[in-house]
Amino acid sequence: MSGLTSMDVLVSLSKRRGFVFQSSEIYGGTGSVWDYGPLGVELKNNIKRVWWRDFVQARADMVGIDASILMHPMVWKASGHLDHFTDPMVDCRECKHRFRADHVDTLPWTHYCPATKGNKFTIPAGEPCGHCGQRRTLCPECGKGELTAPRQFNLMFKTFMGPVEEDAAVTYLRPETAQAMFVNFDNVLQSMRLRLPFGIAQAGRSFRNEITPGNFIFRTREFEQMEIEFFVNPNDRVDGRPADEYWHDRWIEDCMAWFKRYGLAAENLRLREHERDELAHYAKRTVDIEYKFPIGWSELMGIANRTDFDLKQHAKWSGKSLTYFDDERKEHVVPFVVEPAAGVDRALLAFMADAYREEEVRGEKRVLLKLHPELAPLKVAVLPLLKKRDDIVRTAHTIRADLARHWRVVYDDTAAIGRLYRRQDEVGTPYCVTVDVQTVGDRERGEAGDSRVTIRDRDSMEQMRVPIAELGAVFRELLDGAPWSRVSGRYPAPTAKASGP
Ligand SMILES: [Zn+2]
Ligand SMILES: [Zn+2]
Repeated sequence: MSGLTSMDVLVSLSKRRGFVFQSSEIYGGTGSVWDYGPLGVELKNNIKRVWWRDFVQARADMVGIDASILMHPMVWKASGHLDHFTDPMVDCRECKHRFRADHVDTLPWTHYCPATKGNKFTIPAGEPCGHCGQRRTLCPECGKGELTAPRQFNLMFKTFMGPVEEDAAVTYLRPETAQAMFVNFDNVLQSMRLRLPFGIAQAGRSFRNEITPGNFIFRTREFEQMEIEFFVNPNDRVDGRPADEYWHDRWIEDCMAWFKRYGLAAENLRLREHERDELAHYAKRTVDIEYKFPIGWSELMGIANRTDFDLKQHAKWSGKSLTYFDDERKEHVVPFVVEPAAGVDRALLAFMADAYREEEVRGEKRVLLKLHPELAPLKVAVLPLLKKRDDIVRTAHTIRADLARHWRVVYDDTAAIGRLYRRQDEVGTPYCVTVDVQTVGDRERGEAGDSRVTIRDRDSMEQMRVPIAELGAVFRELLDGAPWSRVSGRYPAPTAKASGP
């Protein structure tokens, strides 16, 4: 299904239901910067939370940090970003349009053809003119201007530290979170008394002044990363192999399993080994996990064996020793590092694309986000069947407040129950709770309520009647991963399905 989900469908759903908005939209928007709305921020926080729980909290060999976005400018000299984090750019001398030099020939081009009295044509990328046989030499955009020779354009956002805007105060918004783990290596090692192998994790914002960003939140100028630097002793061997190579494979497996566990279909995931000529000069091996995005197979995350390059660079430029004392061999070593680096925004896009379904239920279209319950922005929606009945509404509010101490739970009475269910399906809410007349009883007729409510399952649309007093325990079980069928086996189905599927 994911392969069929178009980006337009996701962009439209995101805006309509409060997941992602264009930044500064009322002013016409900002180039490739996006804002997460009320449901988007929940989904994004949930992705980061389960990542942190699974890769930091649950592991004895991991710790976390939260470093500043602004770092000492020398960090970027040492890391190589200042000199090498660049794209070659060309400019049109006429219209001033700027292009990535290696992208110019992948664009359709404007041509004023001398063989047809200068008529204007748009010619497909890389093809010659069908009339005069010329190939593109001028600006593809305006068809008139000459292009400058390529110049290197640094992708880091420059800014000034302090009140003066002069060269000495120049610093950069970090283009990756990784460097903070390297420059804090010794602080973390000493303060936490760690032994190799161990990892440092961080989730946070990074900034890249991309020349050709785009594709919704796939490539943006401001984004969030979840990065791990996992340090190993290069002299150790595990299962007869060098420790760095063993751990590199382990991390590839663990990351792949993590994406599958939270809902990405196996057939939409694959590994791609970097070729020798695309490897960064310091990397021993890099493997990307690719996802079949609506734009085609693209990088979801990368897992690189960066050797001892980063620690050695920072030791060299800072003059501080960044080594580890190997007790067994009685020597100082510079650890090797394996770096699993994922983009939060990209992961969010993949989870949404994979969860998106359109089904037909009784002749009507049902849009469904089949998100993993741990990722779903809202866990439970509490819905009153009749909003004119005070006792029903009051009970529903009390249930919401009670459950909201543990989970994100909403109350909604702004439509008929069928509509309310569809709205929750569309944003991936795994469970709805309906409060009806049976719950509260009918005093005028002298009928007592049964203090039970209906829980409805998003995926199967099945329902069960559960005592209000047991809701907390039931949701703890369901949201902890218990299958619906196991829990619903203990409770009756509603006698009258007044509430529809
Ligand atoms: Zn031009
Ligand atoms: Zn021509």
